[in-house]
Amino acid sequence: MVRVVVLGAGVAGHTAALHLRRLLGTRHKVTVVSPNSHWNWIPSNIWVGVGEMTKEQVIFPLAPIYAKQKIDFVQARAVAIHPNGTKDDPVGSVDVVSTEAGREGQERRLRYDFLINATGPKLRFEATEGLGPHGGHTVSVCTADHAVEASKQLDATIAKLKSGQRQILVVGTGHGTCTCEGAAFEYTFNVEHQLRQAGVRDKAQLIYLTNEAQLGDFGVDGMAFKQKGFEQSSRMWTESLFNERGVHSILGAHVSKIEPDTIHYETLDGKTWTQHFDFAMLLPPFGGAGLKAFDRDGSEITDQLFAPSGFMKVDADYTAKPYEQWVAADWPKTYEVPGFPRIFAAGIAFAPPHQISRPRKTPNGTMIAPAPPRTGMPSGMMGKSVAQTIADRIKHGPDAPAHEASMARIGAACVASSGTGMLKGSAAAMTMFPVVPNYQKYPDSHGRNFNGTRGDIGLYGHWVKLMLHYLFIYKAKALPGWQFIPE
Ligand SMILES: Cc1cc2nc3c(=O)[nH]c(=O)nc-3n(C[C@H](O)[C@H](O)[C@H](O)COP(=O)(O)OP(=O)(O)OC[C@H]3O[C@@H](n4cnc5c(N)ncnc54)[C@H](O)[C@@H]3O)c2cc1C
Repeated sequence: MVRVVVLGAGVAGHTAALHLRRLLGTRHKVTVVSPNSHWNWIPSNIWVGVGEMTKEQVIFPLAPIYAKQKIDFVQARAVAIHPNGTKDDPVGSVDVVSTEAGREGQERRLRYDFLINATGPKLRFEATEGLGPHGGHTVSVCTADHAVEASKQLDATIAKLKSGQRQILVVGTGHGTCTCEGAAFEYTFNVEHQLRQAGVRDKAQLIYLTNEAQLGDFGVDGMAFKQKGFEQSSRMWTESLFNERGVHSILGAHVSKIEPDTIHYETLDGKTWTQHFDFAMLLPPFGGAGLKAFDRDGSEITDQLFAPSGFMKVDADYTAKPYEQWVAADWPKTYEVPGFPRIFAAGIAFAPPHQISRPRKTPNGTMIAPAPPRTGMPSGMMGKSVAQTIADRIKHGPDAPAHEASMARIGAACVASSGTGMLKGSAAAMTMFPVVPNYQKYPDSHGRNFNGTRGDIGLYGHWVKLMLHYLFIYKAKALPGWQFIPE
């Protein structure tokens, strides 16, 4: 019996675990370790954050799903990996600390034959003084609980607007190195929609504050589309949406500090500014989960497996070189950890070789560099591909070739809702192929294939977003036919 341990039950880890069980049958043991008892469909946290969905609509308990799938579930946080085993045991293992009610803090060591690290992001609110809902002055929509709190504060702001008080609402990124600008963009337009629905739009100033150097960058260096025969850019497309909805933007900004009603930030020209706010939702920068690694003799080898950011080093080309020399082939394909053939990292947990957007520095030396997004679709595809590789190696031996899911060869779809309602809703739907531009292969279309790169906004986008919500929750619950729903 082979033991596969999956760390994380998010998009990449959960997808990997379900596919492993499907591919391996019940002869081998699949264990999922995750600190949360519930699965969360994170994209719909946006709707929880504006009060259009409840927390219960975007989460469900994992234990019954795993029990049905005969997957062992350990509700715990992984803290350390022993890739070469320990002094007394040559088999690889991972140390976990329980988060289960009644067993909090209890430690366990799980032995594995194959390990998938799919621990997603650590939300690094601490990177900016005063950022975030835990003792800071801003809200977040990164978790369902954060989104519930965001919705409460938004309601309070709308109540003040209704009583005639003018309010300033700021949505965006809380640090120069944040990612996930698409989520901040989406929340901005959902808030804008709520303000209009409440009849108070005229009294509210809505500001999008971002580390992107220009609108429509989304951390992927923007996109070029062909629409009705004309070339359009995501910048023009996004700018026209901002103009139409009266949303002001602050671009190329690194937030350095937040006081109870004031955001301090620096812009690309090196100037420093303050912005008053009454309500602010600012995303944190992401880091790796903070796992450590130890050799058999107990010496620490974390730097062999992890980049300084805490993300896991995989089969990417991490050679430091100038932006102009970055190529699509630098990006990982198989997500194997070099030197540790039984360990893989999928989803946000792997260390990207470099940004996709051009990183910039202010004259004061402050980095303003959107980190590359690793969105749901590529994360799911990585999880599936890693599961396929492991299943093949279990069945056919260690030389079975690895499956590939390079972000330079796969596309992504992002449907950013800009208001809910079956008749009044709308969404900006964007697809890009590939996610990481390949300027050698597609020199005349900004590194991407025009056939797979599009942008559109309208009511149908809202229906697509709603359909994705139900479809992916259905899939994550492993209900009949789940495997036919694409990642
Ligand atoms: C507000 C918001 C909206 C978004 N909207 C979209 C969208 O519309 N479309 C889209 O494609 N993407 C969207 N994304 C991005 C999407 O959520 C991520 O791409 C996706 O969740 C990444 O999958 P993952 O498995 O790598 O990480 P996650 O889904 O975050 O999963 C990580 C898992 O690891 C667990 N974990 C953490 N630490 C440990 C540990 N030490 N040990 C064990 N387990 C651990 C976590 O509990 C979790 O189960 C959005 C993100 C945000 C924040």
